Amino acid sequence: TAQIIDGKAIALDLRHSVAEKVSQRISQGLRPPGLGVVLVGSDPASNLYVKRKREACDAAGLHTEDHHLPAETTQDELNQLVDRMNEDPNIDGILVQLPLPEHMNPDEILLRIRPDKDVDGFHPYNLGRLTQRHPELRPCTPAGIIHLLDHIGTPYKGQHAVIVGASNIVGRPLSMELLLKGATVTVAHRFTGDLPRFVADADLLIAAAGKPGLVHGEWVKKGATVIDVGINRNEVGKLIGDVEFAPAAERAAWITPVPGGVGPMTIAMLLQNTLEAAERHG
Ligand code: NAD
Repeated sequence: TAQIIDGKAIALDLRHSVAEKVSQRISQGLRPPGLGVVLVGSDPASNLYVKRKREACDAAGLHTEDHHLPAETTQDELNQLVDRMNEDPNIDGILVQLPLPEHMNPDEILLRIRPDKDVDGFHPYNLGRLTQRHPELRPCTPAGIIHLLDHIGTPYKGQHAVIVGASNIVGRPLSMELLLKGATVTVAHRFTGDLPRFVADADLLIAAAGKPGLVHGEWVKKGATVIDVGINRNEVGKLIGDVEFAPAAERAAWITPVPGGVGPMTIAMLLQNTLEAAERHG
């Protein structure tokens, strides 16, 4: 049966190493890395994500600036806030929590954040750099997955990586990350006809569809590494992934749990990106 990839512990290690580098900066007389966090409206899930991100930043000694705006905020007002943070020398990273309210255009905001402060890695500049094999600020969830795979010593080259899900924030950038590592990459999505066929051939399987139990345990290749990005609630309100955990764990060599796998890594990578942005800003 599979060994569990302890994302919580691996993420804590990374957070500690960020904290150490932050305190080194400060002892050299440099300012702490600064993160501006913007939340528009009061979506409960977004509220929780923002709170966790801020707590992690505080614990690592980052400077944070919170902007909790009412749902009626206009695009113009949000643009002005982003412009102000773009110019603020104490802010190295800007995070606008998605989704934004209906009346706003998220693409316009993502384009407005200066690429060197785009710690979510969603600006077309940063996605383009990753696609052309010169990554700068990388999207947090895919980068967190790579960190987990590196941690367990994944060889990548010669391996078939199958990603289930092709979103802008997970599947697509992850396909670029895995290509960069030398894996052979297949991206499956809602129009893929025969999902079990692709899953059965995957040495590395990454499920990011947001569909509970989509990937059946018996489809998993023996000895595979299984990364479950999905976060779903079952009938009794428990968090579950996209992969049937118990039967998949019987066949896989490595598997991430939900919760405690990819989720904590995403936050840790945000801190890492903010530190990197600060190091570039000096
Ligand atoms: P999304 O809805 O934007 O994209 C889902 C993708 O899955 C699409 O490409 C779609 O074509 C594909 N898909 C849907 N049904 C499918 C099917 N039956 N077979 C094959 N492919 C199918 O989702 P997202 O924002 O990428 O998030 C995916 C999941 O990952 C969600 O559960 C989300 O909560 C979770 N997530 C977790 C983290 C984390 O930090 N752990 C971060 C981001 C997203």
